[in-house]
Amino acid sequence: MSIVSISMRQRILRRDHYRCYYCRVWLYPSQQGAVAPTIDHVVPRSRGGGNDPDNLVAACFSCNQKKGDSLLLACGEGDYPVKSPQGVGGSGD
Ligand SMILES: [Zn+2]
Repeated sequence: MSIVSISMRQRILRRDHYRCYYCRVWLYPSQQGAVAPTIDHVVPRSRGGGNDPDNLVAACFSCNQKKGDSLLLACGEGDYPVKSPQGVGGSGD
């Protein structure tokens, strides 16, 4: 259940560079291997989280489903390397 507006979705996706906040998969439609983007509430609305940008992150459907109603996503992978925004669009992975 999401009441995030289309314009807000675009804003969050751009801010997060069209990558999933959790697993860094591409969410950009034209990118190879990209998946459908969703917007996740960091603090779930059921726990009092709001619809402001500070509480919203771009997430792939899989991570959004896995996270569900919890406050933290249990990745089990430890910290992932966060790439600089300048690396977006490159092919040097
Ligand atoms: Zn993900």
